[in-house]
Amino acid sequence: MKVDLHTHSTRSDGSLDPPGLVMLAQQRRIDMLSITDHDTIAAYRDIDVPKLSGIRIIAGIEFSTTWRGVGIHILGLNIDLDNRELQRGVDQQLAAREQRAVEIARRLQKKLDIDDPLPAVRAIAGHGNIGRPHFARHLVNNEITKSMDVAFHKYLGSGKIGDVRESWADLASVTRWITVANGTAVLAHPLKYKLTRTRLLELLDDFTGAGGSGMEVVNGQQNEEQTLKLAKICNARGLLASCGSDFHNMESGWSAMGSYSKLPDSCTPVWSCW
Ligand code: AMP
Ligand code: MN
Ligand code: MN
Ligand code: MN
Repeated sequence: MKVDLHTHSTRSDGSLDPPGLVMLAQQRRIDMLSITDHDTIAAYRDIDVPKLSGIRIIAGIEFSTTWRGVGIHILGLNIDLDNRELQRGVDQQLAAREQRAVEIARRLQKKLDIDDPLPAVRAIAGHGNIGRPHFARHLVNNEITKSMDVAFHKYLGSGKIGDVRESWADLASVTRWITVANGTAVLAHPLKYKLTRTRLLELLDDFTGAGGSGMEVVNGQQNEEQTLKLAKICNARGLLASCGSDFHNMESGWSAMGSYSKLPDSCTPVWSCW
């Protein structure tokens, strides 16, 4: 069975709209797909799930949070989209994202001595919520940086001037919004945070203490050895294992939808409890 439980649409920082994303998944013969946009479930307003054939859609989201000052992403999978508490949480995150965009724009304007980038960034984001990749695209469009990568490296990445993280809801809150909506809370791409093993285990302690029950053992941007390392931790902690490409677009750097290493047989797949 082909499963991809981590993808992005134009409702956040992906390049395909939700129907386009689903169509691509059908072409790739994916059996189970989740669209997990950053801090929004708007994609699910754009697709008619009961009418889709040959694919099971799992409602999902990727929440932004901070833990001990580190930016962390939590996937909410198999969530009830109609749950009011979840919806209020999403609204709170979207308001925080909007405020953060204003602050990033202010900082970049001052630092780079440029016009307010926000109107152009808003246009780039289109009908999606604004994220740092939209700022990066703006800097590339205006030849301020040569590439998105350089834009992150110099201005938007971890610890740089455009990295404004303080406004997200805390780990316990985002985890509760997921579980209250009958969803499974999954720690996204655990290796991306570059935590020591001890700190990663502490993060998992806090996450499971708050109701988290899964971790992403397979992510598009990791190799087999890293997957096996995560599988060991996942099994030792008795957690459910998830897998996803983290597909954003066809451009280089992102893994293709549905293409990543296989979930190790030793793991309990997250979908076994749905
Ligand atoms: P945000 O959700 O606004 O905090 O932005 C985070 C997003 O930026 C991630 O989900 C990635 O899609 C993207 N991103 C992070 N680092 C890079 C990078 N070096 N190059 C391109 N995109 C990146
Ligand atoms: Mn992203
Ligand atoms: Mn992420
Ligand atoms: Mn993602």
